Amino acid sequence: MKRKTKIIIVIGISTAASVLLLMALSYEEHASYECLTCRCRRRTDKWGLCCYFGPSLKVWSRQVIRRSNIYKTLFTTDHQHKWAFVGGYSRYGSGLFSFHRVHGVYRDGSVPLMNDFCGFYETFPAFRDFIQAQIAEGKLTQDQVCRIVELPSGVFQDQNSPAGNSELAIKARRIFDEFNKM
Ligand SMILES: [Zn+2]
Repeated sequence: MKRKTKIIIVIGISTAASVLLLMALSYEEHASYECLTCRCRRRTDKWGLCCYFGPSLKVWSRQVIRRSNIYKTLFTTDHQHKWAFVGGYSRYGSGLFSFHRVHGVYRDGSVPLMNDFCGFYETFPAFRDFIQAQIAEGKLTQDQVCRIVELPSGVFQDQNSPAGNSELAIKARRIFDEFNKM
């Protein structure tokens, strides 16, 4: 075998071995968070190298924030998010070498569901317009709306609980009634 051919074979094998090793040692981590106040979503993604039981070397990461309609229309830029973990997963290895895999999206139940007012405001433009008109007419303050969206889920159905019988919840029910009559 010619010397040049041997060199090409050695380089080829070395390159293939390096690629396979990198694939075997690669990892990725993904996690999602939700703000308990304004319901913005934050997602973090990390990619790197590691041994399953060893230290890891982060190569690249990014953070993506999806701003909610609640945040965009009710909160100011100095709002402090209260991030709560929603779920995530990690994967070790890649392709044929993903045998070291810890997978599965999981929820730890730490994020309370949003109440109906919050859900309506986030989802329906007509409801947002209605609330903004109420604020403009002075029937409601922006601070009150911010506090209403923070009320616990089910608060409007449970009128006997302290939260369900609060001044804010009663006000929110009245607003719902007015909106439904339109
Ligand atoms: Zn927030």
